[in-house]
This record gives sequence, structure tokens and C-alpha cells, in this order.
Amino acid sequence: MRTALDLAAPIRCVACDDASDGELCGSCAGRITVVRRPFCERCGLPNAPARCPCAALEGFVRARSLVAFAEPARSLTLAMKRRGRPALVRDVGSLVAALAIREELSCDVVCFVPAGRRARHRGFDPARLLAAAVARRLGVPMRPLLARIDDGPRQADVAMSARRANVRGRFDAKRADGTVLLVDDVYTTGATAEACSVALVRAGASEVNVLTWARTLRRLYLP
Ligand SMILES: [Zn+2]
Ligand SMILES: [Zn+2]
Repeated sequence: MRTALDLAAPIRCVACDDASDGELCGSCAGRITVVRRPFCERCGLPNAPARCPCAALEGFVRARSLVAFAEPARSLTLAMKRRGRPALVRDVGSLVAALAIREELSCDVVCFVPAGRRARHRGFDPARLLAAAVARRLGVPMRPLLARIDDGPRQADVAMSARRANVRGRFDAKRADGTVLLVDDVYTTGATAEACSVALVRAGASEVNVLTWARTLRRLYLP
């Protein structure tokens, strides 16, 4: 429970718990790994092999992520997902929108990966907030173009090798047109990006690009 003392205390860094005047202290902020070239020009995987694992994925044209999903960015991502901090989501949205501009991911509309049933029950959808922040910064509309057809196991609960099958056909888009920028928080295997972008292309999108705040850089376990 919050007390008057807590309210007077400085913010604590979400990664190391030291006193901080922002979500991350200066030292943790300096340790975030920004994704840089050389990377796969399609999916943005740094130091990708000659045949990048994204060759198995359909749907999207390009995917870009700003930072590696590793500490301390991981703690920041979890704070954004779990705690509903609108200022943090707005700041991250601005950074990600700037990446979209640098990488020339121009779009007519921004959309997001809709939350599953469990997250909806919490009444807070961080992906939607992030997409709204990106859209505002890019000056384009944000539309909820995607719906979940059903809620199976969460991707996080499924082995990497099974994620593509787990999420395929899970999304539906009623109608889409023009170039769509799909915004999400983390790109892991690309399976969710694939499932969503395939649905958007079927619904009429001329092109789908994917923009995430973070991406896992471990070995990918795609077929
Ligand atoms: Zn820190
Ligand atoms: Zn790739």
C-alpha cells in the first residue's frame, strides 16, 4: 500500500531498483543494446546467416526493432506491459516511431496485435497503447484491424519450435487497405508477425511492415 513516504520517494529504476529520476537509471539506460546493421534487410535480425530464418515466414515485407530484448530493456518492457504506465508507453512509442521514420517504414495506418482473453480481463492492452503512441507520432490513424479468432495457449507458454503452428490462423482482419504498420512490443520468432500480416494481406492490405520495440536475439527455432 502506498504511503505518504512512498509518494515522496524518487522513482526506482525498473531494472536495478536503485533510486532514479526516470524508469531506468542512467547506468541501466546506457546498457541497452540498440539493434544495428549489419542485419537482415527483411526481418532486422543482426548478423543473420545467409539464409535468414525469416525466409520461412510469409506476410510482412520488413520488420524492424529498436533494441535487444535483454536486460535492462527486458525489465523496461515488462514494466510497460504489466503496470500500465502511459508516460512510459508514450516515450517508447516516440522512440519506435523515430525508428520507423529512419527505416522509411511509411504507412497509411497503424494497427496492433490484439491482446488475448487473459490480458483483456485485466482491462489494459499495452500493445494498443503503444500502437496509438506510434500512430500519433507518425501522424497516421491507428485502427484495430485485427481480431483474435480464438484464444489457444499463449505464445509465451509454447516451445519456440511450436509457436508458428500455435498462432497460425489465430487472427482475422475484416478489411484493410493501403500500407499497414503492425506495432508490437517484442518480436521473438516472427510467428505472431507472420500470422497477423497474412490476415491483413488477405483482408486487402497492399503491404504490411512490422515495428517492435524489442526483439529476442537468441537463436531462432523456426522450422
Ligand atoms: Zn538501473
Ligand atoms: Zn531475416
